[in-house]
Amino acid sequence: MRAPIAVDHVLSVDDWMTGSAAAIEAEADHLTALDSAIGDGDHGINMTRGMRAVLAALADADDAVPGKRLILAGKTLVSTVGGASGPLWGSALRRGGRALGDGALDGPALVATLEAALAAIQELGAAVPGDKTMVDALDPAVTTLRERLAAGEALHAALSAAADAAEEGARATTPMQARKGRASYLGERSVGHQDPGATSTALIVRALGRALVTPG
Ligand code: ADP
Ligand code: MG
Repeated sequence: MRAPIAVDHVLSVDDWMTGSAAAIEAEADHLTALDSAIGDGDHGINMTRGMRAVLAALADADDAVPGKRLILAGKTLVSTVGGASGPLWGSALRRGGRALGDGALDGPALVATLEAALAAIQELGAAVPGDKTMVDALDPAVTTLRERLAAGEALHAALSAAADAAEEGARATTPMQARKGRASYLGERSVGHQDPGATSTALIVRALGRALVTPG
């Protein structure tokens, strides 16, 4: 009897970062416009600079262990991005990389990685869902991925659902009043605008689905 064909794969950290960088760069003007409405208009610039530096650092790195590459990406974001998003996503990737350790980035490992990343963001920034931050995109994405995989769904389908949840979470920030970060200084005037960090986070989650590789 033939074994079922393994359609599920592991993810490539480098492909995830390359895809995230491309998506962020393509949306940089939009991200900056969103940040101009409720912040200081640098989010597209911050994330583009950071992701370019991540790709350069990865290109120079010899270590092939996915967890180590994720830690390097995180360190690079922390050291190259001045805005809040750099330390937040940087800590997230560093902590995610440590959680991943020496193993391959398969479905269960990705859940553990993203759970650690979300925990790092919440520890550093103290935001909870509903505060109008990147947490509003990442939290539903992690929950969706965990639940879909636990229900036996294939990784590519679970990733697609997680990205949908992140986008929906980002859109849901529009009517919220910001309680964390620069936008919170605006009080009620932050209502009616989509959060830039939640928007870029949805792009990063969507890029996971394009980072699937067949194990060699
Ligand atoms: P800055 O606000 O320093 O200019 P960016 O413009 O790069 O930094 O990033 C702004 C984004 O960072 C916000 O849209 C929000 O999603 C996120 N953010 C800010 N503060 C926090 C926080 N305490 N916790 C989680 N996310 C935050
Ligand atoms: Mg800003």
